[in-house]
Amino acid sequence: MALQNYIAGKFVAPRAEATREFFDPSDNSVLGEAGESDAGDVEAAVCAARTAFDDGPWTRTPAKERADRLFKLADLIESRADELSRMETRNNGKPLREAQFDIADAAGCFRYYAGLATKPHGQTFEVPDPNIVCQTVREPIGVCGQIIPWNYPFLMAAWKLAPGLAAGNCCILKPSELTPLTASRLFELIDEVGFPPGVAQLVLGAGDPVGSALAFSNAVDKIAFTGGTATGRKIMMAATGNLKRVSLELGGKSPNIVFADADLDVALEFAMFGIFAGQGEVCSAGSRLLLERSVADKFLADLSSACGRIVVGNGLAEGTEMGPLISRVHQRKVLDAIDAGQAEGATLLCGGGVYDDARAAGNFVQPTVFINTEPNMKIVRDEIFGPVLAVQIFDTEEEAVRIANDTPYGLAGAVFTSDGSRAQRVIRRLRAGITWINTYHPTFNEAPWGGYKQSGFGRELGTYGYEAYTEVKQINTCLTPQRIGWFAHL
Ligand code: NDP
Repeated sequence: MALQNYIAGKFVAPRAEATREFFDPSDNSVLGEAGESDAGDVEAAVCAARTAFDDGPWTRTPAKERADRLFKLADLIESRADELSRMETRNNGKPLREAQFDIADAAGCFRYYAGLATKPHGQTFEVPDPNIVCQTVREPIGVCGQIIPWNYPFLMAAWKLAPGLAAGNCCILKPSELTPLTASRLFELIDEVGFPPGVAQLVLGAGDPVGSALAFSNAVDKIAFTGGTATGRKIMMAATGNLKRVSLELGGKSPNIVFADADLDVALEFAMFGIFAGQGEVCSAGSRLLLERSVADKFLADLSSACGRIVVGNGLAEGTEMGPLISRVHQRKVLDAIDAGQAEGATLLCGGGVYDDARAAGNFVQPTVFINTEPNMKIVRDEIFGPVLAVQIFDTEEEAVRIANDTPYGLAGAVFTSDGSRAQRVIRRLRAGITWINTYHPTFNEAPWGGYKQSGFGRELGTYGYEAYTEVKQINTCLTPQRIGWFAHL
C-alpha cells in the first residue's frame, strides 16, 4: 500500500488517491509508492491543526506531559534505530554508518527538546514603577508548516518537529517527495505515542502544490524551511499574505581554510570529510578548500591519491564510504556543473565522471576536485550539492579571509592552523553562522544552527531553536490597583 498522510490523528490516503513512486538511488529500482497530495489535503491538515491549536488541549497540556510524549518518541526511535537507519540508506543512498548517526542524533534531538520544554523560559524585569511586576512568558506560535529536504530526511524531521511540539505548536510536516520513507515511519511512532489529533501531521507530495499551499495559507502561523535558496525565496514571498513567521535554512558554499602550520594529516582528512560526507549533499559542506600556497603542491598530491581510494558504492554494503546522489536529475545537475567547470578552464585534479561498472545503474558521481580555479567560476560560486570540491590558493591571512567571504552564502566555514590567535582572528572575521577550528562538521543539538547572508535566517537547535517556535508575551501586573488621576472629572 502507498504511504499515507497523517491527518487529525489518522493515516489517510490523499483525497484524489494519487500516488508517486520513490526510488533506491543506488540502482534506481522502485522502493515504494507514496500518496501524492494536493492543496485540498493541505487544507484538511491545516484545518485540523487550527482546531487542535485554537480549541484543543495541546497548548494547555502541561510542559511535563508534552515532554513525556517526546521522551517516549525518542525511546521508540532508539528501539527501531536499526530498521530506520537501513530505510534511510535505501531511500537516500548515504552510507549506513551515516544513517545510523542521523537516527541516533534525531532521537537525541527529541530528547533535548523534551528536556527543554520544562526549563524556565520567561523573565522578570526590574521596571521603574515599584507597583508593577513586569514579566515575559513564551507562548507557542500556532500552526507551523515544516518543509524539509531529501538529504537528511529523518534528522530534518526531528529538527523541525521536536522544538515545534515541545513549545506547544501544532505541526504539519512535508517531506521531500523523493524521500518519504522514514518520515512516514516516524509518524507511525508518533501515532504509537499518541498525540492529540491535529497536533503532529504529515502531508506527502510535491513541493508545489503541497509545500507552496502551506507557505501561502493564511491559516498557517509559521513556515520553517530547509532546502535550496531559490525555493527559500519563493517561500518568503508566499509568506507575505499573513506575514507568517519564516525561518529559512538554505544552501552554502562554505570555505575550509588550511594554513601551512596546520596538522596537515588532520586537515587532509577533514578536507575530504567536509565535502564527501553525505556525497556532498550537505548544506554546510566544505565545498571550497582554501590552501596556503607553500603547502599546496604536496597537499593536493596527497588529496588526489586519497580521493581515488574512497570506496564508493551502495550505502548498505560493508565498507562503503560514499553513496549515490539522490536522483538521476540531481546527478545530471552535478555532472553539468562539472562540465561547466572544465569549460571555464578549471583543471580536474581527480574524479569528474561516473562509473562504467554496476554502479552505472545508480546515481554515482566520482569524488571530484578542481584546481586552477578563478573566483568568478560557477564551480567556485554556485552550490553544487554533490561531491565536487573547488580549490582556491592564498598567500596571506588577509587574502584567505577575503576569498572565504567572497560568496553570497554564509552558512559555515572552518580554519585549520596550529596558531590559536590566528584561528580566532580568522574565524571571527568569517561571515558565517557555523564555524569550526581544526575540525569540520560536528553539529550539536545543544547549539544554534543557521546562516548569514543568503544562507537563510533564524536559528535551529539549542535554545535558539526553541525560541524560534515561540512568541514573547509581556505581562504587567499591578500589585496594588489604584487610580492614576489622569482624568480630572473622574
Ligand atoms: P528544494 O529546495 O526544491 O526542496 C526542499 C523542499 O522544498 C522539498 O520538500 C521540496 O519538495 C520543497 N519545495 C519545492 N518547491 C517548493 C515550493 N515552491 N514551495 C514550497 N516547498 C517547495 O530543493 P531541490 O530538491 O530542488 O534541490 C535544489 C537545490 O537546493 C540543491 O541542488 C541544493 O543546492 C539545494 N538544497 C539545499 C538543501 C539544504 O540542506 N540546505 C537541501 C536540499 C537542496 P519536493 O522535494 O517534494 O519537491
